[in-house]
Amino acid sequence: MADGFLTSDTTDTTWIKPLDTGWKEVTYAAVDGLAVFEGCIILGTVAEAQAVKKFVDDNPGIKEEGVESFGTGIVGTQFRWKNNTIPFEIDPNLPNQQRVLDAIKHWQDNTPIKFVKRNSADPAHRDFVVFRPGSGCASSVGRRGGRQEIILGSACSTGNCIHEIGHTVGLWHEQSRKDRNQFVTVKLDAVVPNARHNFNQHIQDGIDLLAYDYGSIMHYPRNAFSANGEDTIIPKQAGVEIGQRKKLSAGDIASVKKLIKS
Ligand SMILES: [Zn+2]
Repeated sequence: MADGFLTSDTTDTTWIKPLDTGWKEVTYAAVDGLAVFEGCIILGTVAEAQAVKKFVDDNPGIKEEGVESFGTGIVGTQFRWKNNTIPFEIDPNLPNQQRVLDAIKHWQDNTPIKFVKRNSADPAHRDFVVFRPGSGCASSVGRRGGRQEIILGSACSTGNCIHEIGHTVGLWHEQSRKDRNQFVTVKLDAVVPNARHNFNQHIQDGIDLLAYDYGSIMHYPRNAFSANGEDTIIPKQAGVEIGQRKKLSAGDIASVKKLIKS
């Protein structure tokens, strides 16, 4: 797919816990053993997603208990990178590694986020990200602990890499905000039926307090998961573009600055 989404017809549900909200049941696609949410967010392995589902289903009270560090939950300072610094490695088999270096430079030039080549002997580099090849572009949201990955297929550009690093830093997709229906119209009829779960609207972070940002690099493009080339997500404001994959918007940068203080 042109967007570089990781997709599959095999879907299931699990639970996540975004910032400032309770547990949410979400649908993911199983792709190469990974539970992939909204086409490019790695919740964990399918086995981990199934374990979270079983745990939450077996312990319904947990949804009210404010448990913050379990499984695929992404909330609070334990999911932020220490000193805003992300230790990283690049898989030697990854083609076109310059796109990674260019994306890192863009982040460092525009945000407080810093990157450092991982030194495995340094205890401060215990948590790190590996850029590796794959069939699409994908990342986890926030710091998960230990090794985590950013997957870059051959079609993933520097802009796609900037987007995926946004997830690694802790950003969700802009069009998943709770208030998105005020700003865009989703045409589910135009979406590949088995991909409609990617348009469920369910993530509300504290950073929603900033204005809805059509220009966010974290926003889906107009034709995301289109079955027939028709637009699937249309801005209500005339003349705006969505889905750019060139650079962090002013809103993205403001969101990151807010996020790393949360
Ligand atoms: Zn994404």
